[in-house]
Amino acid sequence: MKQVLLLLPTTGYRNRDFLAAARTLGVEIVAAANYCHQLAPSWGLAPIMALHFDRPAAAADTVAREIGRAPDAVLAVDDSGLELAALLCERFALPGNSVQAVRGLRDKLAFRALLEEHGLPCPAFHHLASDAEPRAPLPRMEFPVVVKARRLSASRGVIRADDREAFERAVDWVRAIQARADRDAEALGLVVEAFIPGREYALEGMMQQGRLTVLALFDKPDPLDGPYFEETLYVTPSRLPPEVQERIRDATARVCRLAGLREGPVHAEMRINEDGIWLLEVAARSIGGLCGRTLTHLLGARLEELVLRQALGEPISLARREGAAGVMMIPIPRRGLFHGVEGLDAARAVTGISDVAISAEPGQSVAPPPEGSSYLGFIFARAQSPAQAEMALRQAHRRLSFDIRPEYPAQLARAEAHRLAS
Ligand code: ADP
Repeated sequence: MKQVLLLLPTTGYRNRDFLAAARTLGVEIVAAANYCHQLAPSWGLAPIMALHFDRPAAAADTVAREIGRAPDAVLAVDDSGLELAALLCERFALPGNSVQAVRGLRDKLAFRALLEEHGLPCPAFHHLASDAEPRAPLPRMEFPVVVKARRLSASRGVIRADDREAFERAVDWVRAIQARADRDAEALGLVVEAFIPGREYALEGMMQQGRLTVLALFDKPDPLDGPYFEETLYVTPSRLPPEVQERIRDATARVCRLAGLREGPVHAEMRINEDGIWLLEVAARSIGGLCGRTLTHLLGARLEELVLRQALGEPISLARREGAAGVMMIPIPRRGLFHGVEGLDAARAVTGISDVAISAEPGQSVAPPPEGSSYLGFIFARAQSPAQAEMALRQAHRRLSFDIRPEYPAQLARAEAHRLAS
């Protein structure tokens, strides 16, 4: 039986989907979890190692010590484990991406530098060191700008600022968010870049020996203009003209090549306007949250199955089906404690809705971006056309109502401090 070492983030949405895919393929999983190995006593997995994914060299030593035999593949479920997975692939001489490639792509500053170096469309950008004074003028920089944490995801720590005052507030706020979320925050500092107008798209792909296969191109029909960038709708296939889709594919493939990405899933996000295709990110992982489930029907297999197959060097056969699909990452109306949801049956009854998955747990504290890092849940649609899928998602969402209550005083005080500051 083939064995895969799977790097599970403690709070990962897709851990179960990866484990289910492994069962379907008859693959044995050895799991390593980020920090906490108590996370899944009921998953029937053994052994589970506890590793610090953000200290990859030390974590790789632990794996080498603990693991009985070299696995057939090493796979990270999400961003946090990518560098460690790459390091372990190198150690075990498995095909995979270089540490340098995944590290460069995960870092928003290094990514911008890569685009600029190769003359690809890239907004003016700056590194704002942790001790830099936000009042000092940034050369080449005109408002509006976007202030970003270096390597967070799901739009956490990303804020648009239209003038100097908003910029100073954004810098303070993003610094605080990054300090809570990344233990290297101090050394990393922030990225400040020009705001790129335009509509947004996402490409889901797979690299095999340096070649990119597009699995899906998504439209994001809701405008994302800030100041905070909460993702909502993803609908596929894209309604863009085929030649534009082709240009997106080429631009993504080019950046993958330049970054040195050779194997495994790719998730890319881009904005399009009259000046071209502007890549926002190219990540060496598949789409986040539970959004990958959108593609199961269209691809004829779970996305996680394809990822596992590719990692094991098996062919990925795509049984592409006609039709459209979409997902809504349910927007978080306000920060607070999630208590429950009403209208689930009514939402599920909307024509075209294939599932509504609520991922927030009662009692869980939730917050929209730029603070939050978790989702309320996901609505999935399948329809004949992208327009129908989009309509079904919007209708289903209107039928849901969320009970989100004020937080406890200590949390409230922190939130209030930020509100007053902004
Ligand atoms: P994350 O990895 O957290 O998704 P991104 O850098 O992709 O971080 O930014 C999150 C979102 O913020 C993007 O999807 C986009 O909507 C918006 N955004 C980021 N940078 C820019 C920019 N320079 N111009 C316009 N919008 C941006």
